[in-house]
Amino acid sequence: MQTTGPHNTDEHAPSALSEASGGPEKLPGIRHVIAVASGKGGVGKSTVSVNLALALQQVGGRVGLLDADILGPSIPVMLGLSTGQLPEMTADQKIVPAERHGLKAISMGMLTGDDKPAILRGPMVGKYLNMFIGTVQWGQLDYLILDFPPGTGDTQLTLAQSVPLSGAIIVTTPQDVSLKIARRGLRAFETLNVTILGIIENMSTFTCPHCGKDTDIFRRGGGERMSRELGVPFLGAIPLDADIVTGGDEGRPVVADRPHSAAAQAYVAIATALAGRLRGLPTTALGAFAWNWETNEGEPAWVESAVQPMGSPTTPAGFRRRDARTLSVVWEDGRRDDFDVRDLRLACPCALCVEEMSGRAVLDPQSVLPDVAPQTISSAGNYAIIFRWNDGHSTGIYTFEHLRALAERFAAKVVEDV
Ligand SMILES: [Zn+2]
Ligand SMILES: [Zn+2]
Repeated sequence: MQTTGPHNTDEHAPSALSEASGGPEKLPGIRHVIAVASGKGGVGKSTVSVNLALALQQVGGRVGLLDADILGPSIPVMLGLSTGQLPEMTADQKIVPAERHGLKAISMGMLTGDDKPAILRGPMVGKYLNMFIGTVQWGQLDYLILDFPPGTGDTQLTLAQSVPLSGAIIVTTPQDVSLKIARRGLRAFETLNVTILGIIENMSTFTCPHCGKDTDIFRRGGGERMSRELGVPFLGAIPLDADIVTGGDEGRPVVADRPHSAAAQAYVAIATALAGRLRGLPTTALGAFAWNWETNEGEPAWVESAVQPMGSPTTPAGFRRRDARTLSVVWEDGRRDDFDVRDLRLACPCALCVEEMSGRAVLDPQSVLPDVAPQTISSAGNYAIIFRWNDGHSTGIYTFEHLRALAERFAAKVVEDV
């Protein structure tokens, strides 16, 4: 067991992101991909996307915004991006995103121009989105906001499956019809195992531009009620501000333009809550994997860029086969651990190895061969890995929390032994 602190660098680590690892759904350099969706159009989804992106930036994030609404892109207008010409390209054929208010933004509509591509529906949109994201020179991002097309039909669900989302935000208005549709959309995402990061209720109150008084135009609180009912977080309500409506159209998003307004402050509060919630969630940098330990085929990603001071201590940013007997892990908080594979086999948490009620070890260490090794290691959701061992054992699900606790226990033992 060998452990190094956050600031030690391993000279064997790849300095850049390995292209070969992690499978097609990995987004190198992008920590979190967030879909902003709505059950239907007309709820101000794109306005929310733009302002939320700006608010996330205000609370310290590096943010990119991608308008994935090919058929009706509205981000370009809101940010004053030109759609008439093809975007600028780098020498290595990467698309250079526009920068507005410090935000990196690009619209898929920029590629298609005025030629509305009716063929770009369903599976095609998913393929395009994936290709598009990979072709844009984002640099390092904490958050990539995807402004989804309105609705939750095939197109939206295909999009949701084509990129490794940290989760989706559902925008709704407080009206009953809107809520009903939002609820349906939410269920659709849940069937795809997309985490619902929360509900934002847009236009819940009208703030009079003259006297600043709030009036509930729509019945307020519907979004909050729905989130309670469905057990998903309520992120907040955005007051309907006359300036949001006009500002959006004129390329002056309220968060950038009038940061002291009630609406801007509501966005910043939501961004703060969201950033906190995402900190506890696994990074999207490490995609799903099924890894053959012997051949190293299907090796997972090793994403150094996901390491940050506020990183989650129980989220791995990379796994690597250091040698035939050693599994290396780098955690988002920067810690690195080298596990002896036999130690891991001995620490199997399954019901055959540990008595469920008492937690007493049932597995006799003497019975575990000295050359026991994994055959495969696979990711289980966003929370665990599963080993298939060469002694036939494969029932242990090693949650990241279990793995981290083991790391700390082994490290303490090493210190004791010294
Ligand atoms: Zn008034
Ligand atoms: Zn076991």
